[in-house]
Parts: sequence; C-alpha cells; structure tokens
Amino acid sequence: MKILNKNQLETILNKLAEEAEVFVPMSKGNSSGFYSWKTRNPETERLMLDALNVYLSPKNIGFPQTEKMYSIKQSGPDVEIKETFEDSDPRIIFGIRACDARAITCMDDVFLTRGYEDSFYKARRDNTTIIANACYNPGPNCFCAGMGIDPTEPNADIIIRDTGDTGYIWETKTTQGEQLSARIADLLEEKELKAPELKPFKTNVEYAGVAEKLKSMFEHPIWEELSQTCQNCGICTYVCPSCHCFDIQVKMWGDEGYRFRCWDSCMYTEYSAEAGGGNPRPTTKERFRNRFLHKLEFFTERYGYPLCTGCGRCIVACPTGINIVNIIDQVKEANVDV
Ligand code: SF4
Ligand code: SF4
Repeated sequence: MKILNKNQLETILNKLAEEAEVFVPMSKGNSSGFYSWKTRNPETERLMLDALNVYLSPKNIGFPQTEKMYSIKQSGPDVEIKETFEDSDPRIIFGIRACDARAITCMDDVFLTRGYEDSFYKARRDNTTIIANACYNPGPNCFCAGMGIDPTEPNADIIIRDTGDTGYIWETKTTQGEQLSARIADLLEEKELKAPELKPFKTNVEYAGVAEKLKSMFEHPIWEELSQTCQNCGICTYVCPSCHCFDIQVKMWGDEGYRFRCWDSCMYTEYSAEAGGGNPRPTTKERFRNRFLHKLEFFTERYGYPLCTGCGRCIVACPTGINIVNIIDQVKEANVDV
C-alpha cells in the first residue's frame, strides 16, 4: 500500500502548491479553518491535521462568502453583461473530514443537478481535488454516523488514514485522485501499515423516521418552545458546512457596475421579506422551524439524505446552547396528536 510518511508531509504540500492552491486545516489567531498553504505564516499559523474539525468549514473554498459574479453596463432598459468572473483555478482541499466532504456532496446536488448548473460553483468544483482525512476517534459533538455517514470512508478523490504511526495510508479513489497521486508518486512509500479501529461515538443520534414524522409537525407547539432562546444571530448558518443560501446584490457607479452574491441566513427577518411589505416568516418561531425542517425534512424529501452532516459546529457556536441533537430527540419524542 502507499504511505505518506509524516516527515514528508510539508514536502508534499509544497509540491502540490506549485500547481494548485492547497487549502489545509490551520489555526489562525483565535480561530481555525481551511487556509492556503502557500501563503501561510509559519510563525502564527499551525497545521491542524489532527483536529477533528476546525471552527470554519471549507465551505467558502467552493462557495465564497462574497463573490463577484459579473460586470454590467446599463443603457436605458437594456443591460449588457460585460465580463463574467468564473474562477476555474485549480485547488486542492487537503485534510477535510467526512462530515465536510458530505456537505460538498450536498452542495453538488443543489448547485449542479436537477436541470440547473450554477456556472460559478461548477467552475470551482470541476477544478477541485479533495483529499480527505478519515476519522477514527469521534469528538464530543460529532454525530455524522447518526446522519448516515461513515467517518472512515469520506467521499473524496483520495483518503488519508492516520495510522498513529509514522505515516498516513494513502488511498486513491478516483481518476482525479490518480492524476494527483502520480504527481507525488516518488514521495510516497510502499509499506504495510494498519488503519486504527473506529472508536464509539459519544453523541448518538437516531435520524431514521424523523423526516417522515416532521411532515405532520408543521403546526406543532414544539417550535414555539424550542425557539424560545434563539436570538436569530445566524451564526449557526454561517458555520454550517452545508447551509448554502445566498443573496445577490448590485454595485453601480452611473450606468456601470457589477453584481455579487454573499451568504445569507434564513434566520434573518429580511431573508423572507417580500417587496410588498409582507413576510411569511415574521417571528423567530417560523424562521427557526424553517431551518430545522429544511435540514431534516425538505432536503431529505428532495435528495434522499439530510442537510445536516453531524459536524457539530452549530452546537459549539450557538450563543444560547441550541443543539440540533436535542431537537432531533424532541421531534422523535413529540406527541403528534396535540
Ligand atoms: S446543522 Fe449543525 S451539525 Fe448539522 S451540518 Fe450544519 S453545523 Fe453541522
Ligand atoms: S446560532 Fe443559535 S441563537 Fe443564533 S440563530 Fe442559530 S439557533 Fe438561533
């Protein structure tokens, strides 16, 4: 089998960074996320391949928080698109975990299937190679297995497995992965190492039956109760690797300008505000209910699996302790005859 020797890791990242932007999990100030290996400051940024999940997911690599889309020129009622800013530079996401890899699958389904392709997302995605880091020791807030994900088999072009020894097992899974592996073939060793056993999850979730049960719970009093402490701050949607709503805005100087899009959050009042002044989700209860129904019911109905990947980030980030695992449990226990 192929082995990436840990003392060769930096050499390999340097080599890969010659031909693509390589994003790796790193600490940065008080936070952590996926940042460029090429432009890192080794004094202040530390590689975090051992961390289960960094604070910020790699969502912004394929779907930037703010993205310039195209420039326009207006002449009376006519609008001419002058330039489209699609970004097809090659990139590699190195060290992503199974939950975040599933979130990319969610976004692939949303942005690339059902007869519509988002060309901005597609340009990046077609030029992205994913090297995932298999998990064997789930953290206190991890529950990906409950959401149908095997943490040891992430959906990726290449999987690395930390043997706890001197190396990572290097497993190539796709043609794109084979092309990348060929570029560093001389830096990989041929050796036999054993992958560790998966340790038990500390947080267990039973998602089976939840999407079906939620169909009859739209008007259930549970939403009033569960949403009591929500501040509509939106941080849960920003840290979530699979939340993908965006808003499109325009910047104009005279008759020229550009359109850009930026992440939006269904937790905000303006998100569902209508031009005529109405709002179908006027209070926290409706916005909260929509977020959890989208995660646990609507997406499953449309794509066959939930929009929550069990990464646990929203549990850590919510300032009032709202916990999606508790919500799943409460939905399961709810009496639907009320
Ligand atoms: S809803 Fe929470 S636990 Fe689920 S994927 Fe999003 S951030 Fe992770
Ligand atoms: S992070 Fe918590 S308080 Fe903020 S919008 Fe999400 S659920 Fe509400």
